[in-house]
Amino acid sequence: MSENYDLVLAGGHVIDPANDLNGPADVAVANGTIAAVSPGLSTAGAAKVVNVSGLYVTPGLIDIHSHHFGYSGWTFPDEYAFPNGTTTVVDAGGAGYKNFEQFKTEIIDRARVRLLALLNIVGGGMLGAIEQDVSEMQPEPCADRIAEYPDILVGIKAAHHKYGWESVDGAVAAGDMCGKFVMVDFQPRPERTYRELILERMRPGDVHTHMYGQHIEQLDAGKKVQDYMWEAREKGILFDVGHGGGSFWFRVVGPCMEQGWRPDTISTDAHKGSLFLPRATMPITMSKLVSFGMSFEEAVRRSTIEPAKVINRPELGSLSAGAEADIAVLELEEGDFGFVDSGLAAMRGNRRLTAHLTVRAGEIVWDLNGISRPDWTTQGDYVRIDN
Ligand SMILES: [Zn+2]
Repeated sequence: MSENYDLVLAGGHVIDPANDLNGPADVAVANGTIAAVSPGLSTAGAAKVVNVSGLYVTPGLIDIHSHHFGYSGWTFPDEYAFPNGTTTVVDAGGAGYKNFEQFKTEIIDRARVRLLALLNIVGGGMLGAIEQDVSEMQPEPCADRIAEYPDILVGIKAAHHKYGWESVDGAVAAGDMCGKFVMVDFQPRPERTYRELILERMRPGDVHTHMYGQHIEQLDAGKKVQDYMWEAREKGILFDVGHGGGSFWFRVVGPCMEQGWRPDTISTDAHKGSLFLPRATMPITMSKLVSFGMSFEEAVRRSTIEPAKVINRPELGSLSAGAEADIAVLELEEGDFGFVDSGLAAMRGNRRLTAHLTVRAGEIVWDLNGISRPDWTTQGDYVRIDN
């Protein structure tokens, strides 16, 4: 049977954990959505066929912690996301209820990547001194703004507050009012312990980000994972990577991974200060975890359907028929590679992930090696080749 597909990615190896797929298959796209995933699809009526043999085809990666407004290191989201196989990014608290509309007009409405956001419990957002002003932490207007934009604002962020519980408690109160989860970036203190945060302050479904930070008490003095970590996981607290410039230390990740203390979700905390050194992108953060023993299939799952579930948008993390066609085509290179952590130490690894093709809503928006384009010698006096 021949179908009028707009695009077929043919001959690749599909990993779609949401649908338990891990094997050779073609992926067909029509009208911006996934039309079919199956080995041996007919390409007779397809407008474009791209040979992706030797490559992996996965749902577009979802990064639930990155920075695209407010915070001083923000980047324009498409520039970070598309070269990294990432089709959904969640700005982690750059804006609060007072300046969200500016964020929407200036960035969200202009981005091609799907840009969602966590609203900061601080009304003015992630802007330095005001992050310490408890009068800025007002649950009600925060929840009201989220109720106005429930499709964009997927949760609430508590971060950078140096003393007391006002930020965390305010975010949780707002979360209760509008039915959203909270992501917490936390600095423990003697009067404000990490144990109390995860066992007593956060709710099931809330996320602690920066789980592998050296400022977090996840390991005891003997480098054993603390019992309260497992207890919190049992209770439904979620743990996210949030690599960034300060929260991915090989000397923490190593003992944690050895003891099976793994992330629920992989994210980057991408900002200007972390994109190049230590290179906190989705493919490289996944590569680092694979080098510590995580299977590639698990790394894909924790970068697609698991983050989609955390933000309560499970339709975004799969290649299910009818889903918006957000796709990553990735190469898992084998060889001798080096990776850098937040302390700027290096480790060797034998596999490295590279994004070859990124498809957003059915459109190819990144093509590292031009595999979707015709060779110029076959195109005569071409001007712009639309397909
Ligand atoms: Zn961050």
